[in-house]
Amino acid sequence: MHAEIVAIGTELLLGKTINTNVSYLGKKLVSLGIDLFYETTVDDNEIRLYTVLKRALHRSDVVITTGGLGPTVDDITLEIISQVIQKRLILNHAVLKNIREHFHRRQIAMPKENVRQALIPEGAKPLKNELGTAPGLIMSLEKKVLIALPGPPAEMKPMVERDAAPYLAKKFPANWVILSRLVKTTGLAESQVNQKVKDILNAKPPLNVGIYAHTEGVDLNITAKAKSKRQAEKLIKQIETKIRSRLKEYIYGQDAQSLEEVVAKTFKAKKKTIAIAESCTGGLISKRLTNISGSSQYFLLGIVAYSNQSKQFLLGIPQETLKKFGAVSKEVAYLLAVNIKQLAKTDLGLGVTGIAGPKGGTKEKPVGSVFIALATPRKILSRELHLHGDRNALRMRASQAALEMVRRYLVK
Ligand code: AMP
Ligand code: MG
Repeated sequence: MHAEIVAIGTELLLGKTINTNVSYLGKKLVSLGIDLFYETTVDDNEIRLYTVLKRALHRSDVVITTGGLGPTVDDITLEIISQVIQKRLILNHAVLKNIREHFHRRQIAMPKENVRQALIPEGAKPLKNELGTAPGLIMSLEKKVLIALPGPPAEMKPMVERDAAPYLAKKFPANWVILSRLVKTTGLAESQVNQKVKDILNAKPPLNVGIYAHTEGVDLNITAKAKSKRQAEKLIKQIETKIRSRLKEYIYGQDAQSLEEVVAKTFKAKKKTIAIAESCTGGLISKRLTNISGSSQYFLLGIVAYSNQSKQFLLGIPQETLKKFGAVSKEVAYLLAVNIKQLAKTDLGLGVTGIAGPKGGTKEKPVGSVFIALATPRKILSRELHLHGDRNALRMRASQAALEMVRRYLVK
């Protein structure tokens, strides 16, 4: 038994819209214990959509379409479905009422094109759309199931959670469970992580361990397939313990946790405060910390001191220091940290300066040179980094290294 997704929409193939529906549905199907074998993206073209749907229904047991349920002429999903399964389209009064109410609530007259959205293939069960006009539908076709969902993720997801997933869980009870755990590290290159866990990456089914590098760091994903949740958890725990013992302090979090979330939690637990003076990261560190609700408890001040003048007059860095060592230097990072801490009367002060590129690098200080200092009540910690990547990646990596420095200090 396996599923197939058909993502419908010209905009997906033109690269204008990222196909996030497939990634969401893929995860959902895994959690239901249903194998996903195929995904096809097709444009809003009658003949191609017909061909793709016909093939999907022929080779897969569950076919889920997304998109093409709107009121405009390019939205043809229901029409083509009705042709493929050879069922008539019938006006569904409950659906029409729902569409009318949608416009009534927004105090707009209903355009007559929207009536078309209430034409449902005979025998299909319409799914209510709480946020838009396009209904979804579930059709049981002998042994197969066809589910049509709207394209906008905000409309599609609630329909899956409320209707489609429970329907599939009931119709195809899973006889196994798949669980995953993401172990997140930062501060090591992919090759270094690889070296430490090489043998673990060779894990054989029912376990799978994958390594994923991105700007925030390197993650290890453990997946286990077992007869019960408990058994899968046990399998994961064994490997996770091994990984944790190898990567130790480089691990900052797990699953959906971001570094700023972990740092926020630690700040709250330790009841400490911080102020940040940043240059090359342009406010990114302050932004990331304030992404977390309740951050005013520990984040007291952030200054983006971009020019030499602002470093001098707002943060008291002597002109001579700037001249002698340059704005991108260990010495300036040090003073940024110390002075912002004093200015804001916080427990910690963070100073970051660097060259984000692509221009501005020199032989001594190439693009990617970043200096970070963390002033604490007792001492001042500092780091010099040589990062790689384009401007965005460099800034992200610098912010990650700075937040990690804060985390390491706080958890000690
Ligand atoms: P439609 O139901 O075809 O009218 O789609 C309406 C909108 O939903 C599109 O313009 C996209 O912005 C969005 N959308 C459609 N398909 C997808 C998809 N596979 N992933 C993410 N967004 C999508
Ligand atoms: Mg469309």
